[in-house]
Amino acid sequence: MAHLTNTAPTAELQALDAAHHMHPFTHGAGLADKGVRIMTRGEGVWLTDSEGNRILDAMAGLWCVNVGYGRQELVEAAAAQMSELPFYNTFFQTSHVPAIRLAERLAQLAPDPLNHVFYASSGSEANDTNLRLVRTYWEMKGQPQRKAIISRWNAYHGSSVGSGSLGGMKGMHAQGGMPIPDIHHIDQPNWWSEGGDMTPEEFGVARARQLEQKIEELGPDTVAAFIAEPVQGAGGVIVPPETYWPEIQRIVDKYGILLIADEVICGFGRTGNWFGSQTMGLRPDVMTVAKGLSSGYQPIGGSIVSDEIASVLGGDEFNHGYTYSGHPVACAVALENLRILDEEGIVTRVREETGPYLKERFESLVEHPMVGEAKIVGLMGSIALTPDKAARAAFAADAGTVGLICRERCFANDLIMRHVGDRMIVSPPLVITKDEIDTLIERAWRSLDEAM
Ligand code: PLP
Repeated sequence: MAHLTNTAPTAELQALDAAHHMHPFTHGAGLADKGVRIMTRGEGVWLTDSEGNRILDAMAGLWCVNVGYGRQELVEAAAAQMSELPFYNTFFQTSHVPAIRLAERLAQLAPDPLNHVFYASSGSEANDTNLRLVRTYWEMKGQPQRKAIISRWNAYHGSSVGSGSLGGMKGMHAQGGMPIPDIHHIDQPNWWSEGGDMTPEEFGVARARQLEQKIEELGPDTVAAFIAEPVQGAGGVIVPPETYWPEIQRIVDKYGILLIADEVICGFGRTGNWFGSQTMGLRPDVMTVAKGLSSGYQPIGGSIVSDEIASVLGGDEFNHGYTYSGHPVACAVALENLRILDEEGIVTRVREETGPYLKERFESLVEHPMVGEAKIVGLMGSIALTPDKAARAAFAADAGTVGLICRERCFANDLIMRHVGDRMIVSPPLVITKDEIDTLIERAWRSLDEAM
């Protein structure tokens, strides 16, 4: 059997990587000189690299390894399904047991009336599905003019042309022909950076009311849906003021437009409930899921939709789907992952134990001279770096540079935190212990000191 374990020297692997491997969201120029850090093993919250360093992964890979690394049950679930039925599709009136069982389980876990699953292999694919699904829903309801989808600047909904257009990352829009037509953006509820003289509560309402203004500007009967992450993740873990979501919910209800909650990061325990919508009190018509659904052990995503949407779409053929929609191995692994999350009480532990503990420790970082605010929900949080706390100032001229330096100091201290501009983010595996949280905070503090 061919093994991919690391036997070559790191420098040789780095040279091969630089020669042949194109990396997502990475500035290629520096890579050849500096060399990538090559991960070789994982256990719990810990990674080992090709040099034998043990690194605390406070990002759970890419916000996804919720049950932690090294879970043999997931390996066995994949192997058993591969032996039995490695692939079959779910097109043209066929199905298979893992896709059926996983859909049943997701319908149980999702808030009512979300009882129907359309599978994909990633969050991007699932949001592409949503884009077509909500427009097709309105067409089938006899309102084909409802095409507009409203999203938020600095949202992240994926990297395909459709999902990248739904997202509000201006750097992405600048490349490759995005956004596609009929997608509109309002401002994000980032009080620290954009709240000015308003209180967080006033600001939350003001930002939510931009949705109403946008609906009125476009014409209420042309709007299909509003899409948002319950807590913006890749935009910098922007926790909205408490007034924000109730006002958004009032507006989508008033105008009868669909609410798509992108739960790709917030789902499966990250915020202390199964879904971020439950934590933030929203009632979505569609939820996008991926990442934590399989804890990243297999690529799988999907759209969980309401009874009403499923019954309307079921009235005709929805000409959409992916070869790997409901891949049996991915579904089997996801099912086993959901069993682990449930039976080990991991979601409850985030809500009642590790979440509150990380909150207390993480918020203590505001005592550091360079940290303005520290915001956290469950096990996803961020700190804003600032040269002047009272003024809530940004490192204006070199925005992002300080964050990058901090991230590199963390890396040097065997801690993986991510930076988005001048915000530093954590989103560790949900199995992190209190001792490991102490280590995380101690390494973060040291890294901040070194970055000053
Ligand atoms: N939606 C959200 C909220 C995400 O954070 C991401 C990825 O980070 C995506 C969608 C896209 O998921 P994927 O990278 O699996 O396509």
